[in-house]
Formats: sequence, structure tokens, C-alpha cells
Amino acid sequence: MKRSNFQVNQKKPELELNKPPEKKMWQKQGPFSLWYFIVMLILLYFFQSAIQIKREEIPYSQFQHYLKMDQVSECIVGDKTIYGTLKLMDPKTGKPRRFITVPLYNSDLANALQKHGVKYRVAVESHFFRDLLFNWVLPFAFIFLLWGFLFRKMGTAGMNFLNIGKNKARIHAESLPRVTFDDVAGADEAKQELGEVIEFLRNPEHFQRLGGRMPKGVLLVGPPGTGKTLLARAVSGEAGVPFFNISGSDFIEMFVGVGAARVRDLFEQARTKAPCIIFIDELDAVGRQRGGPAVVGGHDEREQTLNQLLVEMDGFDSSSGVVVLSATNRPDVLDKALLRPGRFDRQIVVDKPDLKGRVEILKIHTRQLKLGSDVDLEVVARRTPGFVGAELANVANEAAILAARKNRDAITMADFEAAIDRVIAGPEKKSSILSPEEKHRVAYHESGHALVAELVPTGERVHKVSIIPRGIGALGYTLQVPEKEKFLATRNELLDQIAILLGGRVAEEIVFGDVSTGAQNDLERSSELARNMVCAYGMSEKLGALTFGKTSKSVFLGTEYGETKNYSEETAREIDAEVKAVVRDSYERVKKLLEDNRPLLDAIAARLEEKEVLSGEEVEAILKEYQK
Ligand code: ADP
Ligand code: MG
Ligand code: ZN
Repeated sequence: MKRSNFQVNQKKPELELNKPPEKKMWQKQGPFSLWYFIVMLILLYFFQSAIQIKREEIPYSQFQHYLKMDQVSECIVGDKTIYGTLKLMDPKTGKPRRFITVPLYNSDLANALQKHGVKYRVAVESHFFRDLLFNWVLPFAFIFLLWGFLFRKMGTAGMNFLNIGKNKARIHAESLPRVTFDDVAGADEAKQELGEVIEFLRNPEHFQRLGGRMPKGVLLVGPPGTGKTLLARAVSGEAGVPFFNISGSDFIEMFVGVGAARVRDLFEQARTKAPCIIFIDELDAVGRQRGGPAVVGGHDEREQTLNQLLVEMDGFDSSSGVVVLSATNRPDVLDKALLRPGRFDRQIVVDKPDLKGRVEILKIHTRQLKLGSDVDLEVVARRTPGFVGAELANVANEAAILAARKNRDAITMADFEAAIDRVIAGPEKKSSILSPEEKHRVAYHESGHALVAELVPTGERVHKVSIIPRGIGALGYTLQVPEKEKFLATRNELLDQIAILLGGRVAEEIVFGDVSTGAQNDLERSSELARNMVCAYGMSEKLGALTFGKTSKSVFLGTEYGETKNYSEETAREIDAEVKAVVRDSYERVKKLLEDNRPLLDAIAARLEEKEVLSGEEVEAILKEYQK
């Protein structure tokens, strides 16, 4: 079977921007100058030989013979040749014969010449051409080449000063494969809301007649990879209108004022092509709140660009048929002015897909793949909670690649399993082999997680336990699969989650009487959960249904830089005590649970150590065996 059947036809996000045609210095100027010099040299060579008087070449001995016979009338002695005229006449021209010979120098020559009364001189041989080459041609050629090379490197900045303000957006509608809503799955609400925009673009007059006002700007908000860019392209595809695609970061150039010029130009172009869509991807790159902590360089530039964007958005009438779409995954850092009515006043949330959505997305991305009969996309979707569209596309692609690598005729479920693992945790690290003692410990650690997950009342089913080291820092992992999508967590569920996280650590302690560094991530996550229970969810009995602390976001780089403390020192102490209590109680609980079920823990760990990977069914089989 052909390998190409396995290649996922992934549509690349459109980054292709209309760069002003690059002037290829090297191809235009470089060879031209070089040819010029070569031609010049050849011409000069012929020129020189043309002005040279025709002489007959004679052997040196002949020359000496003539010399002895007093037949040489005149000669010029160079360091490499001797030329001159003989007294003998050329029968054809009737003029004295001219000769050239290569001498064999000896000290007697001068004497002999003198003795025979020959008029002679020694010539300094001209190095004219050599000098020309080394002193003039080569240096200039070198400078020429260097110059061309540098300008080529500098590209837009060096050569295209004139084009600098032109926007890099380009009309995509004609040149790119049309994307429609059929290519986007699992974003039904977003599609529905965008439907209105499409209607408007298809038939702007109709809307105007009814006096309707379209929103000028629609902002797509959602985590990375959820298909925002794809949706925007689909809108243009559905409406069949031109699509100006530009990314926020394209506006930011090294020269102040360029971004603003680019914005102006973009809107100008769009107006001539209306109805059309301007799509500004990653709006947060240019639309960050103004007046934040100064970033070295480029800050003024960004503000100017943003201001220009605001001006342009105010400056056009929605009836002009231009709709500005935009996407961001950081709506919280956007400048408030951008979100005011008349600008991006409509926000559409594109969220991570749910189970049904994931199935649909997988269907889209396996359309061109050859799937084995055992592949159930529903199961794949069930095992990929929290995956976004881009990751699911990646899973399908990885599965295809793995199947191709194994020379299979069709992609099997096992390929999908392996692909999911790869996407979750990076490729298997076969090379980093654990020592037997480490493996023993990791087996118990993971078994601890798995057993606690099976034993606590709300624990989700264990799907897989593995002690194959993966990615960076993960020595093993226990994967649970929720039966159904969850949107809320109760207090008991959170406590069970903390228990599961602590399971690994406690198992190590019980079995080895000592703990290791392997539980760092577990502890971080369980502490955070406990703290959130107390501070954010108001789940502490002692402190009551209050929230404490407010996390503020930094404008600069959009990182969370700290908590605003809105409680007293005393409360802080209480919070700490409560968090500690939650963790301590959970720890005791897990310890008891595992001690009571020690034979089970041993059984699972032994099997895991032997097989390295256990499926949920295998774990359950062990449980059943012991519960009899
Ligand atoms: P975003 O712009 O939200 O970061 P993209 O639109 O760039 O995400 O999505 C990247 C790729 O992931 C898309 O080209 C597509 O192949 C895939 N993808 C993402 N979401 C979806 C979806 N809802 N349906 C189908 N494919 C999707
Ligand atoms: Mg995007
Ligand atoms: Zn762990």
C-alpha cells in the first residue's frame, strides 16, 4: 500500500504573507558585474595581442647563430623573452625580419652582443595585466560580491525601504483551498454565531435595507489549537469573500511607525475589496493593554499600531461590508478600548471540544486515512479528554506515521494508543533505562496511584499504568479515563483526587520505609488542589464559604505575577493550617487504604514490573482475583 495514504492532509495555517517580491541582488547584480569583468578581461587580452607586431619565433640557438653571423640588428632583452629585428629581409614584406626567442641566460651574452656590435637593451617586462587583475579587478569584484550578499541578507530592511509600509496581508480567497464549516467540527455554538456574519457578507444590501447593523469586529476567544484560525478561514470560505489574513505580530516591525502604516494600508486595501474579511490573528500581540511596564524597545511602536487599529475600526462604517475577525487566546490582556462597542464588541468563545466534538474532529482528520476494522474513534475520543483540535489532528497523524513505519496496511487501534501516548508524554525513551531498583520503586509508586484510584469511591477508571520513561522527568504514569465529561467537582471528588495523587508517595513509604524525589509533581498538584479547595472553592469547614486572595495578571508578557493578599496575617495562618489539615488527613487515609490492601498493591506492582504497561482491564482482573 502506498505510504502516502497515511499522510494526514493537514491544512497548514496560512502564514503565507505577501512579502514584497524580494530583490535577489545576487542573481541580478552579482553575476552581471562578474560577467562584465570577465568580458572586459577577454576583450583586453585580444586587444593586446592585436596590437602586438607579428614576430617569428626562433630557437635560442638560431638566435645565437644569427648573432655570430652578425645578422641581428637590434634586440630587446626581457627577463623571459628576447625580441628584435634581424638584418635579414623578409622576402614577403621586404622588411627586416622580426623575431622572438626565449633566452638561456649566461654572463657571456652581453659580451657577445657587444663584440658583434649589436644594439641591445634589457626591457622590464610589463605586468600590466597582472597588476590590473590584482590591484583593480579582484578588489572591486570582492566588494561587489560582498555588497550583493549583504543586501540580500538584509532583505526587506535593506532593499525595500519603499515597500515598508505596505501590509503583508494577502487576498486568500482565490488562491487557497477553500475551507468550509465542514472542515471544522465540535464548535457548533461558534459556527452558529458566525452564521450571521456569513449571511451579512453574502448579502450586505439585504441587511442594510432592514436597517440592521453588523458588528464591525468579532473576536474569537479560546485556548490555542481549538480551531480559531480555521474557523475564520471557514467564514471566508462559506461566504465566498476575500480574506485578508495578518497576524498581530506582523504589525510589529523594527521601525517605529511601520506597524501603524501597515494597519492603514490593510484597511485601505480591504475597503476596495468589500465585502471581505480582515482577519487579525493573535490580536494580543498588538492589542495588549497600553501603559504596562515598559518593554525594552518596540513599546511605543506597539502603542502606535494599536492606536491606528482603533482609529481604523472607528473610521469605517459597518455597512461598507468589511468585517474584522480576530482571534486570541489571551482576552484578559487585551486593551479595554478594543472591546468597546463599535470595535470587537462581539466575542465568540471557541472552547476545547467535548467528547462528541472530539469524535467529529477525529472523523475529519481520519477522512483520508485507511483505518483498520478495530479502530473505534469513539474510544479514541474517550481516551483524549482535554485534547484540542490541533492535538487530535496530531494524534491521527502520529497514528498514521506509526502504522506506516510498521508497514501495516491499515491503521490499527494500537497505533492510536501509541499515538495518544506520544502526544501526551513525548516519544518513549528506550535509551534511558532505569536500574532494577529504580524500576521496582517506580512500579510500586504507580501501582499506588492506580490502586487508590480503583479503591476510592469517586475515582475514575484506570485506563493504563506504565513505567516506561517518557519525555522529560516522567518515569511512569497512571492514566485515568472519565466515564463521562465532567464540568463540576464536588468536595469528595476533590479529596479523592488528592488521595490518588498521594497514592504513589504513600506506597513508596509503606513498602520501602523511605521516600524518593519521584513524587514532586504529585505533591505539587495535590498541594495546589488542597489550597484551591480552601482558598478558591470555599470548601473548608473552618474558614467557611469564602475565597481568599485574588490572582492578578501581569500586563507584561501576560504572566500571573502574584496574588493580591486581601486577608490578614492571622487568616493566612489559618489558611495554611487548613491546607495542611486537608493534606494530612488525605495522607492518613491513603496510608490506611494501602496498608489494608497491601497484597493487592504487591500483586499489581509485581505484574507492572514484569510487563511495564498494564491496561485497566488487567488491573481490574488482579483486583477481582483478590476480592474473591
Ligand atoms: P488556533 O488558531 O485556535 O490556535 P488552529 O485553527 O490554528 O487553532 O488549529 C490548528 C489545526 O488544528 C487546524 O489547522 C486543524 O487541522 C486542527 N483543528 C483545530 N480545531 C479543529 C476543529 N474544531 N475541527 C477540525 N480541525 C481542527
Ligand atoms: Mg491560530
Ligand atoms: Zn506519581
